[in-house]
Amino acid sequence: MPAFARAMDRLGTETAFEVLARAKALEAQGREIVHLEIGEPDFDTPKNIVEAGKRALDDGYTHYGPSAGLPAFRQLLAEHVTASRGIPYQASNIVVTPGAKPIMFYMMMAVLDSGDEALYPNPGFPIYESVIRYLDAKPVALPLRQENQFRLDLDDLRKKLSSKTKLLILNSPHNPTGGMLPPEDIAKIADILTDYPQVWVLSDEIYSRILYEGKHVSIATFGSLRDRTVILDGFSKIYAMTGWRLGYGVMPEALATHVARLATNCNSCTASFVQMAGMEALKGPQDAAETMRQEFLRRRDHLVKGLGRIPGIRCLLPQGAFYVFPDFRELGLPTREVATRLLDDFGVAALSGTAFGEHGDGHIRFSYANSIENLDKALNRIDDFVRALAHR
Ligand code: PMP
Repeated sequence: MPAFARAMDRLGTETAFEVLARAKALEAQGREIVHLEIGEPDFDTPKNIVEAGKRALDDGYTHYGPSAGLPAFRQLLAEHVTASRGIPYQASNIVVTPGAKPIMFYMMMAVLDSGDEALYPNPGFPIYESVIRYLDAKPVALPLRQENQFRLDLDDLRKKLSSKTKLLILNSPHNPTGGMLPPEDIAKIADILTDYPQVWVLSDEIYSRILYEGKHVSIATFGSLRDRTVILDGFSKIYAMTGWRLGYGVMPEALATHVARLATNCNSCTASFVQMAGMEALKGPQDAAETMRQEFLRRRDHLVKGLGRIPGIRCLLPQGAFYVFPDFRELGLPTREVATRLLDDFGVAALSGTAFGEHGDGHIRFSYANSIENLDKALNRIDDFVRALAHR
């Protein structure tokens, strides 16, 4: 077979999809598995949104649209972001994509040259490091530690910023830890960045509405950061629309032009009827989204309390998203083995913290996008696992 491109050796992946496939294979053999691995709401898309999507199909929204998104949808998104972030944006600042993930890829393609340094949270969403490496830029990890409530260590950030830094990635609320950057930290980061005007910021705010304490604040609102920040957001999480593939980026117009050109080269446009469903999601009643958030809050409290009762596991109370990231270090087993044994021997699918970077070692990510009943089942099985270890 002819050779593959060398860059493929640098491209990573998202382990959640692999673990899901393995869990499904076990289910096909008749095993019963509790799924706490994938970052996907277990709710169906609200009915009014589904109906709007169907109507749009009937109304002929089945054709190509502009690469950056349908003008009316971009306008509505600009108004939504203006209201939710409290700073003015226009339609020309918005690029719509099939899911929010392409914003990461396109944005980094548009700003990173080979050898540029990119600072990113570690543990963090694995695609950040994967794309940085793929583009032959240099990933510089910003470790998030439980001891620091999974907040960014600002001294560490100061040390790692240099004239070579081209990009800083932030994610709050954060996957996989559920941690949140408090507004005072964001203000300090913005202040630190004034000495590094060449640095772009990718602010992944996809969980901004799945927050249980305080108010979400975007780094784009500080000083002139708006002129070099890309806000990434989307419909997958808050409207339970993962399979529809609908997301967007908010950015300076000059960058939006480049990102839209990348879209033209790759996906052409986002499905027109899906954007029409997105219009309904934003304009229609928000009670389904709020009910979901409250249900996640109830599950968070239930799961954290349950994990707290199991000896050897330490779990912080996350402020957002739908993940917990407990510390299993006391059990003295390699983290990957913990995840493998939880799935193979106890039927609980979860992700090793190492799937989110080397600094995730010692932790397991459980998604609580599952029913209280299933969370209880998982808690019992995790407890059995820990007891079995104690009696080795
Ligand atoms: N950012 C983070 C932090 C995520 O966890 C995810 C999805 N797991 C995404 C972005 C991508 O979401 P989408 O489904 O819209 O591509």
